[in-house]
Formats: sequence, C-alpha cells, structure tokens
Amino acid sequence: MKVRFKKILRLLVANILPDAIYDRSRSKFSNGIARAINYHKINKNSYTNFNEQLAYFKKHYSNCTENDLESIIIGRDNQNKPRLIISFDDNDISNYYAAEILERYGFKGWFFIPTTCLIKSSVVPSELSSLSKIDKFMSIYMIKDLIKRGHIVGCHTSTHSRLPSGIKKNVYLSEILGSFNEFHESLGFKPSAFAWVGGEYKSYSTEAYKTLLSSEYKYVFTTNNSLIIQGSDRYMLDRTNIESDWSIEDVKLYTSGVWDFLYIIKRIMLKSFVLLK
Ligand SMILES: [Zn+2]
Repeated sequence: MKVRFKKILRLLVANILPDAIYDRSRSKFSNGIARAINYHKINKNSYTNFNEQLAYFKKHYSNCTENDLESIIIGRDNQNKPRLIISFDDNDISNYYAAEILERYGFKGWFFIPTTCLIKSSVVPSELSSLSKIDKFMSIYMIKDLIKRGHIVGCHTSTHSRLPSGIKKNVYLSEILGSFNEFHESLGFKPSAFAWVGGEYKSYSTEAYKTLLSSEYKYVFTTNNSLIIQGSDRYMLDRTNIESDWSIEDVKLYTSGVWDFLYIIKRIMLKSFVLLK
C-alpha cells in the first residue's frame, strides 16, 4: 500500500507539477527560502544519477552559504531563486570526491562529521555507533582541504550518537558541547553548525534541544522535511534525506513540497511534545 501510494505520488509530481514549482513560488513571494537536503555515502556507481540530480538542482536553485542562510532566517535574502543546502552526514571518504562534483555545478557542501574522527589519528567506522554504511572516514587533511575550498564543516555529535530522552546528562554534554570543543581544538575555529543523528521521532529530545540552545552553534539541522524560511527555528532547520542513486523522479517527489506536507504531523508533535516541554 505504502509503495503503491508513493508510486502514484511520484507519477503525479513528475508528470503534472512543473519542476520545483513549490520552492520556486515560495521563493518569489518571500524574502528568501532554502531547501536543505542530506546525503550519506556517495557510491561511485551512483555517479550518473548523482550528476543528474545536481544538474536538476543547478537549474532551479542557487548555492547557500552560511551568510545566505542567516539572511534567510532574518528575512533579508532578496533574490528570486530558492537556495539549496547540500549536506553530507557521517564523514564517509566518498564525500571528499563528491565535493569536487558539487563544485562543477556551482555548489559548496555542508559536511557533518562525528568529531571523534578529528581527535583520534585512526578511528574506524565500527568503533562509532550506527555507522554501518561507512567504509572509511575522510582524513583530517581532506577535511581541512574542503574548508580551504570554501565548503562548510560542522559537527554530527562526537561519537555518532542518537540523543533520545532519558539518557545520562553527561551524554548530551559530551555529544553536543564536547563535540564543539573537539572541533575547535582540532581545526582551530569554532563550528557554527550541528546536525542531529538519526531522524526518527525518538532521536530528538528536550534535553538535547536545551543543550543545543545553551551551545555556541548557530545552525542545527534535523531531517524533518520542510523549507527554511524567515523566522525558522535555527535549532531545528529541516532537511530532506536524498540518496545519490535515486532516480530524478524520486528526487522531484521528495523536494516537491508534497513530501514536506506528509511530515507535518511529525513536526507538530516534535514542537508540541519534545521541544517546548
Ligand atoms: Zn549520521
């Protein structure tokens, strides 16, 4: 049932709706909007689809720097094209090569890494929790090179831990504030962005949210599918998960606004029960 429903939606969106119509019209009638998407590992055998996705994004979106994001949140980004934040979670080595492809299409990436990778000279993915998809991490040299080339690097907790309610207080501190310090110590500047691990309803918690509010992070990303607009909660900036091997029809569906609508209940529940306690 679920598969059939998705198939019908995909057909409708790809064949009836003009490309990116929702994002383009929201952008036209506002002081700037951004859609944020997140990838994980970029397999080489998905490069054809990945390139097709980026060509589609280049046609309808423009790059989003940290300054652009700030302008959108405060309602001062006066341009007619929606912006796109292309992010990568987990620090897979394939992300380093994906950055080069992004640059060809005029985009810079936002890379979220578990900061244990920065302080230990060698850490293998199996040492960190729930990182089964990762073969090898980017080295600190690669991360520094990305920064030099204008990409943005942020924290994705210290040890890739979900932060549900009811765990020990020092876990929130070490995974959120500890991660900030590890980044600062290793790279010599303060990170401005953080991405929650997981994305399931239970991976968000009041305790973690409050810790984030007390931190020096300026932009915190989730995966709850909605646009970033003027007045968006900078500690709950929604992203949409995309995989690099997806067909362009799937990408159109997930970034169409229709998908955002399906997540409205989750977003309302999170705001009502998790974040405002
Ligand atoms: Zn992750």
